[in-house]
Amino acid sequence: MSKAEITSWDKNILQVSVPMDSPLRQVNSYILTDEKGRVTIIDPGPRSPDTENCWLGILQELNLSWMDVRDIVVTHHHPDHYGLAGWLQSQSGCKVWMTERAHAEARLMWGDGFGDDAGNGNGKDINDFLPVYFSRHGMTDEWSNGIKAHLESFNSQVEPQPVVSYLNLAEPFRMGGREWQLIVTGGHAPGHVSLYHADSGLMICGDAVLPQISPNVSLLPGSDPQPLETFLQGLRELGSYPVSMAFPGHREPFAGFTHRVNSLLAHHEERLDTAAALLTSGPLSGFAVCEVLFRSRVTSVHQMRFAMSETLAHLAELVRRERAVMLEADGGFLFASAERVREHIS
Ligand SMILES: [Zn+2]
Ligand SMILES: [Zn+2]
Repeated sequence: MSKAEITSWDKNILQVSVPMDSPLRQVNSYILTDEKGRVTIIDPGPRSPDTENCWLGILQELNLSWMDVRDIVVTHHHPDHYGLAGWLQSQSGCKVWMTERAHAEARLMWGDGFGDDAGNGNGKDINDFLPVYFSRHGMTDEWSNGIKAHLESFNSQVEPQPVVSYLNLAEPFRMGGREWQLIVTGGHAPGHVSLYHADSGLMICGDAVLPQISPNVSLLPGSDPQPLETFLQGLRELGSYPVSMAFPGHREPFAGFTHRVNSLLAHHEERLDTAAALLTSGPLSGFAVCEVLFRSRVTSVHQMRFAMSETLAHLAELVRRERAVMLEADGGFLFASAERVREHIS
């Protein structure tokens, strides 16, 4: 069994590095304890027999009982953050806190099935709909055939689902004896919450800002139709806070938060330019663009799913900025340079 590594940071924040599958390999949980010994856990990790044992080991090492665990805050609905919350709640009886929007997304992925107001999905389960959606954007069967099984493989990581209490965004959240401001941003995941303590400048930022890794921005049918725009807006908002130390969902806590935010903003602008340049030689499917942007880095269905969703997020942003247009033909979609289309018409 792999053991969680515990690191103690200034101001009584414990970082727990919970092992998980590659490519990420670990997720950070944070433990904050108040003056009465009441414990709040941020993002407990995905559920597996291994992570359950991990948490039993962590409680033992820290000399804590289930009774001490009062609250869990889940920054967003992804299984590597939300997955174990239900199991921890079943052991401790603690409250599980999320934003209402993030919980809606958890239900979209693993709850009452998939169907949205825009008519996408037709009430089908997203596990069935996503491969069809990717196929319409040009994905070959070789990849799309594996998407459904890949999505289903997450189900066991999020069972049992927790009973969720909604964070009140109008008020600070109290944990570890201090008041934390709630900052909701989307793009990586709708309703993602970061927690900021103004006096110390500490920012617990989940996957909204990560060091070394560019957080995935996915276009998912039935969810946010403009995830990249939402993500960039969120980055600009987060970047406006003075941060002394950031505590991310993966890798190590880091200083230089504003610098990291700015380099992520620049990265996406470069990506948009690269995608736009590809379209100047003629219309391309989302998959064709994805293959060029991510070719050397995609070796698994998991990576392909994120690469494809991120490419579509970039293409949707090019359409929003009127740099590209989406064309529908034979039940599928192509993206064309808006400039080329305008030349053609005039
Ligand atoms: Zn995430
Ligand atoms: Zn994550």
